[in-house]
Amino acid sequence: MSKIRIACPNCGNTGEVDESHRGRRALCNRCNTTFVIEAPVAELSGQAL
Ligand SMILES: [Zn+2]
Repeated sequence: MSKIRIACPNCGNTGEVDESHRGRRALCNRCNTTFVIEAPVAELSGQAL
């Protein structure tokens, strides 16, 4: 399982979640904003889309 990088749309706080969480909601631990986890901001694994 690989991790994807996410960023809070409200405060910009970044974090990593498991790729399987894509499409689910995440809770920012800084501002408590709930947002949908979308495609990774930066793909570090080198996989083609
Ligand atoms: Zn936030």
